[in-house]
Amino acid sequence: MTASTGYQGYQAPSGQTRAATGAARLFAELPAELTFTVDVEPENPADDRDCVIMTRRLMDLLEAGGGHGTFFILGVLAARRPDLVQEIAARGHEVACHGLYHRALEHGSPATLLAELTEAKRLLEDLSGRPVLGFRAPMFSLTRRSAWAAAVLTEAGFRYSSSVVPAWNPMHGWPGAPRRPFRFASGLLEIPVPLGRLGPLGLPFLGGMYLRYLPPWRLRQFSEQNRDAQGLWSYCHPYDVDTARAGAGHSDRGLLARLFLRCNRDVAAPRLTGLLDGRQSRPFVERLDQLAADAPLFAGRL
Ligand SMILES: [Zn+2]
Repeated sequence: MTASTGYQGYQAPSGQTRAATGAARLFAELPAELTFTVDVEPENPADDRDCVIMTRRLMDLLEAGGGHGTFFILGVLAARRPDLVQEIAARGHEVACHGLYHRALEHGSPATLLAELTEAKRLLEDLSGRPVLGFRAPMFSLTRRSAWAAAVLTEAGFRYSSSVVPAWNPMHGWPGAPRRPFRFASGLLEIPVPLGRLGPLGLPFLGGMYLRYLPPWRLRQFSEQNRDAQGLWSYCHPYDVDTARAGAGHSDRGLLARLFLRCNRDVAAPRLTGLLDGRQSRPFVERLDQLAADAPLFAGRL
């Protein structure tokens, strides 16, 4: 039996806890309300197991602070793992759609996209028992080239999207799109990605590889730029926090891309924890009325 020392309740902070405390300071300037979002897709399409484990880890991380988030689930994954969709819904998170397949919007046609979205939405609604109102384009691929997709999303029954990088970006971006929530002509509400500004570049710094790779001083600078951001949200993937099996998938990507996808995963969870520190995450569906209230119509060149 351990002798009483008077310090039995004390536990030295782990490295992860210290890292999260440090990370919280980087995000101190951001608004108090955000939506923690997850793009639920497997890293290795042949093996969903790690995706399920890491999605649970992200739910634990989020719920530790009492928050709930929005989970954009890939349709083909939902078909293979209905239990995961049911668990996400049962734990009080919003189930939303990340497309049927993980394909950039510009590679589809309006007719095929409508058919795929209808199938994915119906599946997610059957499994969650709730209407599915939100959509996130794979790879943030809602751009000027795929602007036709906004009307398709409305036709499929979606009320909102969070799919636009409103700046030039080496992957997908839409320079000239509003940086605050806006409406497309179809009525679809778009809640664009919060960006850090670096010259002509806009970097979606609150997620993915950006959150893992940007140095602390840059994250602090970008957070200050977003002090008055409307509709703040973060994003991540289950594999972002998978430190044990980093890099098992992405065989379709080049060597450099695979290296970037593999490294720095140990900083993702502490930084996400730090981002949630003192900040309340609510699912998009609970913020929609407020975000839509004064969203301007985007009449830019479509
Ligand atoms: Zn994705």
